[in-house]
Amino acid sequence: MTQPVVTRFAPSPTGYLHIGGARTALFNWLYAKHTGGRFLIRIEDTDRERSTQAAVDAIFKGLDWLGLNTDEPIVFQSTREARHKEVVQQLYASGHAYACFMTPEETEAARELAKAEGRALRSTWRDRTPDAAQLAQPHVIRFKGPLDAPLIIEDAVQGTVRFNTKDMDDLILLRTDGTPTYNLAVVVDDHDMGVTHIIRGDDHLNNAARQSLIYQAAGWDVPTFAHIPLIHGPDGAKLSKRHGAQAVGDYEDLGYLPEAMRNYLARLGWSHGDDEIFTDAQMIEWFDVTGINKAPARLDFAKLGHVNA
Ligand code: GLU
Repeated sequence: MTQPVVTRFAPSPTGYLHIGGARTALFNWLYAKHTGGRFLIRIEDTDRERSTQAAVDAIFKGLDWLGLNTDEPIVFQSTREARHKEVVQQLYASGHAYACFMTPEETEAARELAKAEGRALRSTWRDRTPDAAQLAQPHVIRFKGPLDAPLIIEDAVQGTVRFNTKDMDDLILLRTDGTPTYNLAVVVDDHDMGVTHIIRGDDHLNNAARQSLIYQAAGWDVPTFAHIPLIHGPDGAKLSKRHGAQAVGDYEDLGYLPEAMRNYLARLGWSHGDDEIFTDAQMIEWFDVTGINKAPARLDFAKLGHVNA
């Protein structure tokens, strides 16, 4: 029996739900519904300085208005820190992570050397075994991946994407204050939540390479990645506020209907023949990640029907 599909939307609550995030959420929701799987939501609130309750509320408002409901209770990443640390311990014990005591100056020097040698950063602590007294001193925990090995991501949208671990820094997994970093937390959470398909913006493609190494080191299956091109404004530039895009939850006040917005968002980077208007049932039936365009979608508000117009 094949494993049921589990997708997720994992926003960082540092701002409102914008068109790009809403489209990512919709694609994940559609793919879960298309396959009879589950759609989950995780709030990535580990950056305590930038995360706000107002942003969490705005994201929920937008998702609720769009009708993109989660199939399981929402996970807040900040509540999972103990589990993240536990996995780092396991990676450390199995030789896939190491303690690094470099000072900022030493790190800078190691970075210069790496640049001169045409490779990514390696710590001078990579192959050392600190004793208990040393481990009581402030340090970070870094990932210990292969030094120079090809790495291929078979992305459902981008196709075959080639990396080499030579170009990938020994990633910090735990900071000096003991808090987990983004790439580590995402891998642990996606694994524990049973996520099988990660559909997200292609600004995360490089992270997919790093994350796949962590999955392998932990002995876990690597999920299927589908990195969707970002949305551009009508002028071809990366979408920003000056294009008039607002918080998705606020479109209701402007008289838009959620079904019109769902239809519009679905068509930003995905198409089905020449069809322009879909019912939800049609979108769910026809949606597939392989139908997502590789080229950036352009936002054109004129195509979004306005009920008051
Ligand atoms: N929290 C990340 C963001 O908002 C997304 C992480 C992910 O989808 O893996 O950019």
